[in-house]
Amino acid sequence: MSKMEYLISGASKLGFSLNPGQLEQFDSYYRELIDWNQRINLTSITDFKEVQLRHFLDSLTVTLAVKRLSDARLIDVGTGAGLPGLPLKILFPGMRLVLLEATAKKAAFLIHVIERLGLDDVEVVVGRAEEVAHQSQHREKFDMVLSRAVAQLATLVELTLPFCRIGGRFIAQKKGFIDPEVSRAAKVIGLMGGKLLEVKRVNLEGLADRRLVIIGKVSPTPEKYPRRPGIPAKRPLGVA
Ligand code: SAH
Repeated sequence: MSKMEYLISGASKLGFSLNPGQLEQFDSYYRELIDWNQRINLTSITDFKEVQLRHFLDSLTVTLAVKRLSDARLIDVGTGAGLPGLPLKILFPGMRLVLLEATAKKAAFLIHVIERLGLDDVEVVVGRAEEVAHQSQHREKFDMVLSRAVAQLATLVELTLPFCRIGGRFIAQKKGFIDPEVSRAAKVIGLMGGKLLEVKRVNLEGLADRRLVIIGKVSPTPEKYPRRPGIPAKRPLGVA
């Protein structure tokens, strides 16, 4: 197995030690990602060290925002190649995970890699959040909703908060100076039944520009949300 020192040391700073089985899963995940990336566009980051830091470890930083993930029901909205959902699932095999992805080719990769890694309790849903969030088996059914690099926050909360049960959390993984983006989203967070709880910094070497926007679900999302596909991005609510 190739050396995963960057992931191992980063994970230990987060308070986790990865066992040999988990390291093997991360190693297989890396190799499948690189292999499939030659045929379908999954990531621009391919260097082993960079993938360990900017994909795997970055995904695990979600643990800074939540204590219990081990038996939670999670959905990763716009998961792409499985980020942040799959690294978290490797760390917490007991979680129940839905990976939502609009692109069928990426979903084919996800199904392949889940099988290859032998992961249980992971469901791949191909579709757009604007539609899937209206399906009763998914609406307001998740303890935790995650999303990384999908849309600006004002758009994103319309796509994600409808999945979140009352009392659950939505965690958006963001980068850099995000105060203006958070301010622009203030109104739509309320409209979706959410409440901004915290913007947390990730203080890890190589990931110091990362931020976790933590939003609580305090009341039901009105049934008309999310609006039709494309509308939340084209006309974000509450943005002047
Ligand atoms: N979360 C991954 C992928 C980011 S790219 C990562 O951080 O690496 C954004 C992904 O979201 C793309 O794969 C795109 O197909 C998907 N996506 C964008 N809008 C979506 C929507 N409305 N519903 C479902 N998936 C969406």
